Amino acid sequence: MSSKITAPRGTQDLIPPHSAQWQALEQRIHALARRFGYGEVRTPLFEATELFVRGVGETTDIVEKEMYTFRDKGDRSMTLRPEWTAPVVRALLEHQLLAQGPQRLYYIGPIFRYERPQKGRYRQSHQFGVECTGYREPEADVEVISLAWELVRSYGISDAALKINSIGDAQCRPRYREALLEHFRPNVSQLSPEAQQRVERNPLRLLDSKEERDAPFVASAPRFEEFLCEPCREHFTALKADLDMLEIPYAVDPRIVRGLDYYTRTVFEITSNALGAQSAVCGGGRYDDLIASLGGPDVPAVGFALGMERFLMIVEAAGSEKPSARSGVQAIALGAQARATLLPIVAELRRLAEVPAFMDYEERKLLAHLKIADRNGARFALIVGEQELAAGEAVLRDLESRTDRHVPLGSPRVVAAALVETGL
Ligand code: ATP
Ligand code: MG
Repeated sequence: MSSKITAPRGTQDLIPPHSAQWQALEQRIHALARRFGYGEVRTPLFEATELFVRGVGETTDIVEKEMYTFRDKGDRSMTLRPEWTAPVVRALLEHQLLAQGPQRLYYIGPIFRYERPQKGRYRQSHQFGVECTGYREPEADVEVISLAWELVRSYGISDAALKINSIGDAQCRPRYREALLEHFRPNVSQLSPEAQQRVERNPLRLLDSKEERDAPFVASAPRFEEFLCEPCREHFTALKADLDMLEIPYAVDPRIVRGLDYYTRTVFEITSNALGAQSAVCGGGRYDDLIASLGGPDVPAVGFALGMERFLMIVEAAGSEKPSARSGVQAIALGAQARATLLPIVAELRRLAEVPAFMDYEERKLLAHLKIADRNGARFALIVGEQELAAGEAVLRDLESRTDRHVPLGSPRVVAAALVETGL
């Protein structure tokens, strides 16, 4: 006996009815992005490994341990996209879009990270994100934050929280880094092994440690706010004022630093208690140095990435999504002649109506047909049996209100048009 082949660990099949929820989310995202003036970008599923090493940063979780890297048959090192920002910047440079002025792009699609699979953490997951390039002003930060927040708001999620912080720039970060080192060094032996490894290379990253052992040292660590240089402080103050003005609720959280090295100034996260340990659904910020570090011009940028699996988890927990309403019509033919009559009507309905038209081709009792209509979630049943054929009219049963209407039979197009006209 051959062993059973299953989906790879940490991946998921998407099947009905759950896939309809994904389609609805995707449609909402496309509409939202359009309203903010963002255009869609799609990049390859794999890129040269070098792009992520340079663009994400060597001391990040992603590059240190999560990449799906392989050698292709031409002996090039390739990596399955673990995040979108580096590929999007690569595309912006490759197509010389930055020379045209500010760019607003969004993306939806899979990312791949070799992680220990658990609830809300997968090896293939999906992100929606945006990148806004060309503006140093805090208004651009506010634009992308409000775009993310609008998605949360549109689903009526009440337990989501927006947390913001500033991690300064090349001017003020070295001083803060020193202060952090001074703070952590005397206690280094009491930190978690991971933190011990990181402390000299990237002390900022200790602040978002999830290890209990590190918590007391993180809590007493100096805060970046006290170390910001004047321009960074002004930027942060303006950002907060704009969020207040737009009535977007937020909290300043000095522990938000983000895992990626290229962030400057603004960093933010949207979290939800519904996610448990994996509490962040969206993370983003400003990365004024990334584009230049990838060989491009000195163009600032700000963006975010939102995990779609985690987002749908909080949507479900919020219970704000209405159960999908019954829709469409199930054509029920009792007998071969009825089937021949209904088939072209169904074909016309599929051309004319926005709602689905279902048909079952087996010989069954009416009750069995109605069960299938139920399973399909059809709102109406269009029933034709011998009696209806003799009378020259079909029965249109509203499966919600349990009421019947009679519909004259005739040319399929006319029947279908009449059905659409009277409302399906
Ligand atoms: P975490 O701290 O949970 O590992 P992260 O900092 O690695 O998150 P980002 O790289 O900022 O996450 O990605 C943005 C969002 O993408 C996350 O907030 C999350 O919703 C989602 N995400 C990231 N990695 C995964 C994954 N392995 N499975 C599911 N969603 C993920
Ligand atoms: Mg991660």
